[in-house]
Amino acid sequence: MSATCASVPLAGVSSGPLLQVDLAAVGANTRLLADRAAGDLMAVVKADGFGHGAVDVARTALAHGATWLGVTSLAEALALRAAGLRAPVLSWLNPVDADWSAAVSSGVDVAVPGLEHLAAVVAAPGRARVHLHVDAGMARDGAAPATWAALCAAARRSERQGRVEVVGVMGHLGCADDPGDACNERGRTRFAWALETARAAGLRPRHRHLAATAATLTDPRSHHTMSRVGAGLVGIDPSGTTALRGALTLTAPAVSVRRVPAGTPVGYGHDHRTDRPTHLALVPVGYADGLPRAASGRAEVLVAGRRRPLVGRVSMDQVVVDLGERPVDLGATVTLLGPGDAGEPTAADWADWSGTIPHEVVTGLGAATRLQRRTTGAAHLRSLA
Ligand SMILES: *Cc1c(COP(=O)(O)O)cnc(C)c1O
Repeated sequence: MSATCASVPLAGVSSGPLLQVDLAAVGANTRLLADRAAGDLMAVVKADGFGHGAVDVARTALAHGATWLGVTSLAEALALRAAGLRAPVLSWLNPVDADWSAAVSSGVDVAVPGLEHLAAVVAAPGRARVHLHVDAGMARDGAAPATWAALCAAARRSERQGRVEVVGVMGHLGCADDPGDACNERGRTRFAWALETARAAGLRPRHRHLAATAATLTDPRSHHTMSRVGAGLVGIDPSGTTALRGALTLTAPAVSVRRVPAGTPVGYGHDHRTDRPTHLALVPVGYADGLPRAASGRAEVLVAGRRRPLVGRVSMDQVVVDLGERPVDLGATVTLLGPGDAGEPTAADWADWSGTIPHEVVTGLGAATRLQRRTTGAAHLRSLA
């Protein structure tokens, strides 16, 4: 095996793996979604803003047309309040013994999916603002239809007693990424029935929301008074109909480059063997950094302006790139993922290679603790504070 042909670059030219978050992309995506939504726009910043930074994404979205924030857990909602965000916030998935009094005292709206949750919220001091949550047909979160009328009646009684204010009714569509699926019409119909049932119980919820990103982009009949969008903010369109802009870029330096002969086994299990003499670059990012291991054998990266295959398995901390005949310098930047402008792979490409959805790719990268992070495009936010 011959030695590397790489030369050592100037100091400071390269650093370690870097995850960049482009808030200008989030801003542009928010504008587009706000234009498409018939009603208000709730920016869903759960899971740390889909890995992009909940507070950064929230501030950016609020500066570009969103007026509400949405999260899963109360802890996520309280973190937004602690960061100084004052926009309306809704938290929709909590255990029955959650700290409802913290929600009330922090001005966080909560979703109520059943009588037990309602009783717990009512028992908390103060007057909670609640959104009754109906299951629109995916047997996941939200009240089962058989329990809905009783929930509405009980919520109305509590409202009359001044214990809660029912400000909203929410549902969620299970198949909106496939606009032609009949499941969407059934979901819309069930939601309309749920609203009618709430009305008949004497409730007058101002905020009625069913659509997430896909339905906001494809199905105006689902919009009602508000859309809850998360994926779209960070450039993911589950419906595949609209060009949104990816906001993450993952780069890393080549930490070694070597020339190898044909027949060289690469990586764990020797899954790959070089079929010709070639150059291999080692890149210090792996599945512990959110790079899907299931993409082994299929993934590509961008090096020196060209797409090159990853070879061998994705390891915990590293991957190997087949450079072919043209080696690169040590420290040369390898782009593993980005918006696609220069031909680099996107989150959608990684999702295809690993049999998942881009949501899982970006939340995985975003949760990685070893990646250095840099946020760009926030200049317009400074004046807003
Ligand atoms: C995650 C989530 C959303 C946002 O969905 P996107 O497809 O990411 O826009 C909206 N509503 C609920 C209930 C959710 O769990």
